[in-house]
Amino acid sequence: MRRTTSMQILSRRSIVVTRSIQEMQDYQNSFDPSWKKSSKGGIGFVPTMGALHAGHISLINEAKKQHTNVVVSIFVNPTQFGKEEDLDKYPRTFDKDLSMLKEAGVECVFAPQVQDMYGVEEPLCHVEPRAFSDILEGKARPDFFRGVATVVTKLFNIVQPTAAYFGQKDIAQCVLMQRMVRDLNIPVKIHVCETMREVDGLAMSSRNVYLKQSERKAAHVLYKGLSEALRLCERSTEGISREKVIEIIENVLLCEPLVEEIEYISVASTDSMRELGLVRAREEGAIISSAIRLGSVRLIDNVLVGRARYKILSTPAT
Ligand code: AMP
Repeated sequence: MRRTTSMQILSRRSIVVTRSIQEMQDYQNSFDPSWKKSSKGGIGFVPTMGALHAGHISLINEAKKQHTNVVVSIFVNPTQFGKEEDLDKYPRTFDKDLSMLKEAGVECVFAPQVQDMYGVEEPLCHVEPRAFSDILEGKARPDFFRGVATVVTKLFNIVQPTAAYFGQKDIAQCVLMQRMVRDLNIPVKIHVCETMREVDGLAMSSRNVYLKQSERKAAHVLYKGLSEALRLCERSTEGISREKVIEIIENVLLCEPLVEEIEYISVASTDSMRELGLVRAREEGAIISSAIRLGSVRLIDNVLVGRARYKILSTPAT
């Protein structure tokens, strides 16, 4: 049950486009309160920065299995970009995104302006994930996790979803979201969906458009290295040391001359991305992740070893 107010409704498969916080809240308030408790009730929410691809659509499909109403946000969040990063040139393809979302059967898009999200005054409060600035991805991108935790908290407060869907591709973000809702008692279930890949294994990403042809051909090397480490760890009964894991991945990456830099290789726990000395697939498992540079393009990817896979990807309890 929904009223429509002034929001723009596009025909064919209809989709509500909300361009401001007020419009999104009108959409949210138009539901009967009892609807949240009904089967497939409550909003399934997929936060994105747009430039959509099949990876994003896989999150939407997962959300649609559990919710009739799926809301997707498209917001290139400035506070998660570093000074040297690609905020200005980040791909923005709103019209194409909208057709993809209509095709995917999404009910509503929330695409706010930066000023609407952050106001004109410098904010006094933000969400600071303690210790995440010390993990390897956090050291590489200072302020990134604060930006993500803060914007997702704001989006949760605006959209008020029952569940939110994130991609394993950004694994540290997933661990952070699972911890954040627990630590701050946020009533949103976090689902983590497996990484969608191109046929050669490269993880799909909006930033893959930056790769030159030769770099695109070489880019699968990251997943190749991670997969070799995964195979070895899953075969071992006693466990594999972190040094060995790093050596295996480095050996694969260093065979590819276009790899300009190995930014990090991380062997981490599922609870807080704390670095581990030993990977025991049959006990706690591990998250093995890496960031490399191919020319000017930064690629990240990860694999989940043993029980880590079950822990991260299993459906949260109701
Ligand atoms: P982004 O638009 O890059 O902020 O991503 C929005 C969501 O899509 C995040 O939860 C990402 O982890 C997820 N995502 C990005 N790439 C993929 C992929 N290849 N497979 C699955 N999910 C993805």
